[in-house]
Amino acid sequence: MASLLLKGGRIIDPAAGRDEVGDVVIEGGRIARVGPAGTLGPAPGGQADRTIDCRGRIVAPGFIDLHVHFREPPVARAASRVGGADLAALPETIETGAAAAVGGGFTTVCAMPNTDPPMDSAEAVAYYIRRGREAGLARVLPVGAMTRGRAGREAADLSAMKAAGAVAFSDDGSDVADAKVFEAVLRRAAAIGAVAICHCEDARLAAGGIVNDGPMTLALGLPGIPSEAETAAVERACRASTVAGCRVHIAHVSTAGAVATVRLAKTEGAPVTAEATPHHLALTHEALRGRESVFKVSPPLRSASDVAAVVEAVRDGTIDCLATDHAPHTAAAKAKGLVAAPPGVIGLESALAVYVRALVEPGVLDWPDLIARLTVHPAHILGLTAGTLAVGAAADVTVIDPDEPWVIDPAHFASRARNCPFAGWKVKGRVKQTLVGGRVVYEDLA
Ligand SMILES: [Zn+2]
Repeated sequence: MASLLLKGGRIIDPAAGRDEVGDVVIEGGRIARVGPAGTLGPAPGGQADRTIDCRGRIVAPGFIDLHVHFREPPVARAASRVGGADLAALPETIETGAAAAVGGGFTTVCAMPNTDPPMDSAEAVAYYIRRGREAGLARVLPVGAMTRGRAGREAADLSAMKAAGAVAFSDDGSDVADAKVFEAVLRRAAAIGAVAICHCEDARLAAGGIVNDGPMTLALGLPGIPSEAETAAVERACRASTVAGCRVHIAHVSTAGAVATVRLAKTEGAPVTAEATPHHLALTHEALRGRESVFKVSPPLRSASDVAAVVEAVRDGTIDCLATDHAPHTAAAKAKGLVAAPPGVIGLESALAVYVRALVEPGVLDWPDLIARLTVHPAHILGLTAGTLAVGAAADVTVIDPDEPWVIDPAHFASRARNCPFAGWKVKGRVKQTLVGGRVVYEDLA
């Protein structure tokens, strides 16, 4: 039985309330023992097969990202085309996305269904699970579409997708505009105990918009997306969660109005949770002044006061967890300019360092709080049995050097895409090793 010793690191396991310097022993792919240095005694078989010196490092549960896009179509292809020209044209595949995940310390990622064609059937869900397992890197958990064809007209077969392994449901990329369809989806999700992940944007209020409504619409001469488009949709989602008795998770909160709405809904007992992305925490709409399409995201980058409200909501727990909304695009697609380029940025391999910059360095979160937002909190939201270093748990572990300085350079990313809005940033906080099921699946050899 292969064994591994993570020696002398600062073990931070928020699920267990643990923050102490010590050793973690992994045997047979699971956490075998955890404790202060020198108290664990030798492994039953003597020396561990491998010892990783973790002094000065943080040993944390593997990160969980509830929101990534891997772009691979969820359909079985002719064998000759898998890995061939067809997949080669994609901005990301399940395999390259999973490699990016472990490079960023993420051991579990939830893949959104706005693929082409959309992931709206049990077969599609099964395909994502199979391809994720074949990649053998991060655990890839599919999110099924809420509506058939992600078209917003009728509920998809949520039960069949759940039986196939879908961990949540979402029409991410857009909202379900029709109130009746939205409520029907939420009632079905509630009936099977599933979570609805909502991309909250009122399509009519946002129609035609490119950038956040405000100074950038004037500066760039481009139509705006008002913050009200998000706030109104979050209000609707929170109300619907209560009416349908369905747990609703609000994706990528970006406005002060949405924050206030989620905060109020929680005090009223609505079964609502929320996430924030690195880019909505670390960038404002001012980033768009140079008209670079790499800063075009959905929802758009917002004002400094919106960013401050989102950061405060992370601090006070109104926003439960962090999620990257990793959205790879080809260079050709992003080269179409601000108006025509698709929205989205990649995030997996820069996330930790950006969270350190936006949250830890200003004292918004300390390291245990940050790790909680990346592990136990997202695990709780979807009821996943991950996000802890408890004895017996699968050994999904991320080893971090909290102080190592580095410069973000997407040329070094495992992601196939390069649409990273943080290129050139001098940051601190680097993933050194990522373990999934006790296997070292990523190691920083730089
Ligand atoms: Zn979205």
